[in-house]
Amino acid sequence: MNIIETGLKFNGLRPRTSTSQIILHHSASQDVPAVVIHSWHLARGWAGIGYHFVIRKNGNIERGRPQGSIGAHAGAEVNARSIGICLSGDFTQAAPTEQQIAALLELIRWLNKYYAGANKELEINMHRDVTATQCPGNMFPSVEQIRKWLAQTGGEGGNVEDWKHKIMQDAGEAGLIHEQHQPDTPAPKWFVLAVALRILEIMNRE
Ligand SMILES: [Zn+2]
Repeated sequence: MNIIETGLKFNGLRPRTSTSQIILHHSASQDVPAVVIHSWHLARGWAGIGYHFVIRKNGNIERGRPQGSIGAHAGAEVNARSIGICLSGDFTQAAPTEQQIAALLELIRWLNKYYAGANKELEINMHRDVTATQCPGNMFPSVEQIRKWLAQTGGEGGNVEDWKHKIMQDAGEAGLIHEQHQPDTPAPKWFVLAVALRILEIMNRE
């Protein structure tokens, strides 16, 4: 799973404590990078891009909002338990590219392993299933079709890196780290000590 990091800066995010659903969107635009959608959403007064992932027409998967934070894409109730994936393009006009679909299937399979485990799957919905909207457009393949493709192409082994990302997410939700850190970035002494002090602070409070 190759997620392209975008290093976007947000104006304040809240951690998401449950993840049971994936909501699919389109950008209703040309093929645009996450940073452009980020600027649109900032202009609306939001914390930043509302989606967690943007899938470009060439199949690149770009990071949007940090994965462990509450998104802004499908209404407060759904946002609190879902991951928002935006495929770049306007699918009222044309279908997603093959590369986009392949990347989407890979991402969904990865998220299923990450959140749901071996015997469960995340619910998949179109934005229009949960809100009065056309998103992601009538040329977007149906959830049934996506499930069929997932069943056909599934079955390869898990990503060995997943456990590292899980640790990063758990640390974020526990309040040990506040920003998005890359799991393999070396930690200077001050960072290790800052985390240790944070643990002491949390323990003393409780
Ligand atoms: Zn949408």
